[in-house]
Amino acid sequence: MSKRDFYEVLGVGREASERDIKKAYKRLAMKYHPDRNQGDEEAAEKFKEVKLAYEVLTDDQKRAAYDQYGHAAFEQGGMGGGGGGADFGDIFGDVFGDIFGGGRRGGGQRQQQRGSDLRYNMELSLEEAVRGITKEIEVPTYASCEPCNGSGAKPGSSPQTCGTCHGHGQVQMRQGFFAVQQTCPTCHGRGQIIKDPCDSCHGQGRVQKTKTLSVKIPAGVDTGDRIRLSGEGEAGQFGAPAGDLYVQVHVREHNIFVRDGSNLYCEVPVSFTMAALGGEVEVPTLDGRVSLKVPTETQTGRQFRMRGKGVQSVRGAGTGDLICKLVVETPVNLSSKQKDLLKELEESFGGSAAKKHKPKSEGFFNGVKKFFDDLTS
Ligand SMILES: [Zn+2]
Ligand SMILES: [Zn+2]
Repeated sequence: MSKRDFYEVLGVGREASERDIKKAYKRLAMKYHPDRNQGDEEAAEKFKEVKLAYEVLTDDQKRAAYDQYGHAAFEQGGMGGGGGGADFGDIFGDVFGDIFGGGRRGGGQRQQQRGSDLRYNMELSLEEAVRGITKEIEVPTYASCEPCNGSGAKPGSSPQTCGTCHGHGQVQMRQGFFAVQQTCPTCHGRGQIIKDPCDSCHGQGRVQKTKTLSVKIPAGVDTGDRIRLSGEGEAGQFGAPAGDLYVQVHVREHNIFVRDGSNLYCEVPVSFTMAALGGEVEVPTLDGRVSLKVPTETQTGRQFRMRGKGVQSVRGAGTGDLICKLVVETPVNLSSKQKDLLKELEESFGGSAAKKHKPKSEGFFNGVKKFFDDLTS
């Protein structure tokens, strides 16, 4: 089997995306395809090499194995490369384990013992969520051990190559005709043994710590939003990369405003005389009070939209509106004089002109009448 580096074969970098790899493969496969190079042995070899590199690098598990162990990943088990049936699931199962119910992770995190992702629940007031804020948080986590630099070996010493697997982290087990690769039982896949463990971390390479982080919350976040702080999670074991920290946002209820996406809603009480005669009320917005003109003969429940007084979308979808719902208040604690005035007013509404002053009543009572008619018929 070819010993050329698979990335080199395809002419791509080690961080190449699957798309880049596919693109490179297409180009090279066309160039070396046997149909185009009849009888050309060298081209045929090249074609095979390109195909194998492509098969390995577009398979997440195989690529991970290749990145960690090189060609040895495919040779040890005697399975050959490419189409082989080597089972890497057992080696990588832990690494790709479920973190937030998200299933296997693709892409960049391929190394073993990467630190866990952490979640921090952050409560914000509506104002903080709307305007954005920088908050300091304390996160309990593992950090790379300083005295041993994360190696786990006592300062001055260093980890030894594992004698069982010779540093490969895997051993080959034979069962009848089959050769199966397994995680090395001596070093648990690390490929290294620590004879003289570091005193500070007892050979773990990491220690438990509390760290203070400054988290910038962008303006417009809402309950359920999540901010990812790459590499701020738990430190990996033995110098492996750290996990990520997810700040989960929860916005507390506000005593005036109710938020729905980028819109804000609030109820504004008005007296029934103002609702009838019209006037101006002050309504609250997040930027202070503004005056709202109440038209004459306004019904209770009528909504007024104040454009741009809502929340600026965190995803750049513009700013929402403030929707004020006017609620007409029935007066209480009436004096006898006030009661007399109201009686007088009611009398003036009465008689044949009743409907004229009561826009909803006619429709309502007609509906009620029809309801009972339908019941008895
Ligand atoms: Zn070993
Ligand atoms: Zn240490």
